[in-house]
Formats: sequence, C-alpha cells, structure tokens
Amino acid sequence: MIILATNDDGVRSPGLRMLATCLGELGEVYVVAPDRNRSAIGHALTLDQPLRAEEIKPKVFAVNGTPTDCVNLGIHGLLPKRPDLVVSGINLGSNLGDDITYSGTVCAALEATLMGLPSFAISLDTRKFTDDQLQVATLFAQDLAVKILKNGLPAETFLNVNVPGGTCRGATLTRQGKRRYGEGVVTNIDPRGRKYYWIGGAGVGFEDIPGSDCNAIDDGLISVTPLHANMTDDNAYRDIERWSFDCVKVED
Ligand code: MN
Repeated sequence: MIILATNDDGVRSPGLRMLATCLGELGEVYVVAPDRNRSAIGHALTLDQPLRAEEIKPKVFAVNGTPTDCVNLGIHGLLPKRPDLVVSGINLGSNLGDDITYSGTVCAALEATLMGLPSFAISLDTRKFTDDQLQVATLFAQDLAVKILKNGLPAETFLNVNVPGGTCRGATLTRQGKRRYGEGVVTNIDPRGRKYYWIGGAGVGFEDIPGSDCNAIDDGLISVTPLHANMTDDNAYRDIERWSFDCVKVED
C-alpha cells in the first residue's frame, strides 16, 4: 500500500507532517510537497521552468512547484509505483464554499482524481494549529482513508473535508456552500512612492444554507463534501439546449 501526501502550505507544515505520520500506520507514505507556502495557487501547473525535487528526508520531497506539480511529479516520477491513495492537507485554514477553486489543497486532490486515483483534501478551520485540533483531524483522516481504500470512490469524485477548530460534535456529509468575502482592496503606497494593492480579504461570513459545508463547520461538525471533477451543469445544459447558436462557418 502506497499513499502520496501533499499540501499547499509547504513541506514543512506541521499539518502535513502529522498527516503523513498518521497515514504511515496504513501503508508506505511518500510526501511530495511544495518547498514553500503556495496557498491559493489553485490548480496551477508549472510549465515555464524546470522542477527540482529535493529528498530532504527519506520519502519526503520538497518541490519548487505547485501542489498540482507535486501530485504529477509524485505519480509520474518520484514514487516507485502508482499510489493507492492521495491525501492533501492538513491545510491551515478551512476550504469551504467558493474557496475550493482557489485552494491548492483541494486542487491537489482534484489532480489525483483526474489521474484516476482516489483522493481527499483535508483542512482545519483555524489560524494556528493546536495539538488537540491536529489530533481530531488526523484521526478522522486515518479513518476516512481506511473507508476509501475499502469502498473506493465513484469515478471522477473526491472528498473535500473540513474540520472545525473548536468543539467537534461529529461529522456529516455536506454540499458546497457559499461564502461571503470582504470586498475591500487594501490600497497603499510602497517605500518608493508607488501605489500597491492587496487583494484577498478575509471571509466575513457565509450564506445560511442547511446541509452546506459552511453550516457544518459553524455547527462544530466535520464536513465531508463529495466533489466532481467534471463541472458540466446538467440543469443548465437542458435550458441552454433550446438556444440556437449562430456562428460564422468556415471551411478548411
Ligand atoms: Mn494552504
């Protein structure tokens, strides 16, 4: 049994270290992770420069690339064979609602799914890890890994797991919710007198949607959301099917 562990917070994150340790009880764990924090890098691939993978410890590789690069490189270059499971996390901070397309943590799991491997992402709703929080998250990750290895996951499906930072009252299956973000862009002047902008304001809340990932975390529940890699919207398809598209036709 081979497990690939990665993240977007960087190879030195205690979240990843604890995840790798707990998964080590299930099989042989290879860590392939960015050499620094690449949070909010989404599903980016590095195509314009060579990637280097430094084995900083046995079976622990630091890569000068994105989480998606790490999954690619792990599967196609660094691991002795295809892993049985890919796990991404434990991320410092939740990945709820709209976060999932920005999240390098979630997109690393997505990448594994695109390669036909079962995977999940796991994130902790906290600003600073505590031992208690990490214990809750790692034990859940371990149990979930066992379940996935036993039952498998439907094709092109992976799981996005979020763990509350405070009281944990249980775990529940959820749907992707909707977050609200502060709209402000911070504008300021740098030491050389030039204007700069800082985007990415903190979340200011979420829409109250029963059964959503955001609600679950707010209720102190571990949230497990099945996500599908194919984003085609069937309802929209049926509506838009009635349109007739006009376009210029060109013969080759
Ligand atoms: Mn992160």
